[in-house]
Amino acid sequence: MNTPVRVLVHGASGRMGQSLSRLAPERRDLQVVAAVSGSRPSQRVVDGVPQFAASELYGVPNFDVAVDFSLPAGFDALLALCVERGAALVSGTTGLAPEQQSAIDAGAARIAVLSAANFSLGVVVLGDLVRRAAAALEGWDCDIVESHHVHKKDTPSGTALALGASAGQGGAEPRYAALRAGDIIGEHTVQFTGMGERVELVHRATNRDIFARGALLAAVRLADRPPGRYTLRDILLADQ
Ligand code: NAD
Repeated sequence: MNTPVRVLVHGASGRMGQSLSRLAPERRDLQVVAAVSGSRPSQRVVDGVPQFAASELYGVPNFDVAVDFSLPAGFDALLALCVERGAALVSGTTGLAPEQQSAIDAGAARIAVLSAANFSLGVVVLGDLVRRAAAALEGWDCDIVESHHVHKKDTPSGTALALGASAGQGGAEPRYAALRAGDIIGEHTVQFTGMGERVELVHRATNRDIFARGALLAAVRLADRPPGRYTLRDILLADQ
């Protein structure tokens, strides 16, 4: 068997970071070698994995790919570290500023980068369906309604914006509505409304593990890719 891909988990103490750390041992083709959180970790080593604060980022051991589910405030330093170490970057952090998106493009000249607002296979497929529906339903209203838990920081969600971009490719001009309530993991409805009829395309995430599993698979597949900016579609749906 090949040597396991060495993974840095960034945003380790968060909801997604905890899912990643719990699910990573399921895969024999990767090994988590460091975990970084925004604030100082209460334990220095958890399940054999050394823990770091964001302020200690440059002290992490070498890694092949970083998996990032943190906040936009921590993103620039992580991207710079990946470029410096020649490591790939898989980022699920949403709400990145336009300058941070430009920085990803610049970084992609040196390393392989995949930034996606949603790591579920269902949402990759939904994006294709939305593009086709928008192209076929010319002149219909297009509304994207999303619901998430009360702790979510960005609005509209990154997934809603990505679905909106797909609708835009089909010629629609989407509007957005957001609900923040309870512990909803993530629901997106793309509604096309005509005169006397309506089409609704819906995705409901019922378990955060889908995102973590998708990101870990993407990490393994991205680790040995040449520099460039990849989409989840390139990585998950590619014949390998
Ligand atoms: P969370 O608030 O539970 O966790 C955030 C983590 O980031 C914590 O570990 C925190 O310590 C860390 N952090 C904060 N500031 C930091 C910094 N400056 N440097 C390094 N780490 C820092 O959030 P969450 O629910 O786990 O979500 C994290 C991100 O992932 C959000 O942007 C969310 O929208 C996104 N998300 C993406 C997907 C996807 O499939 N792409 C799925 C779910 C969530």
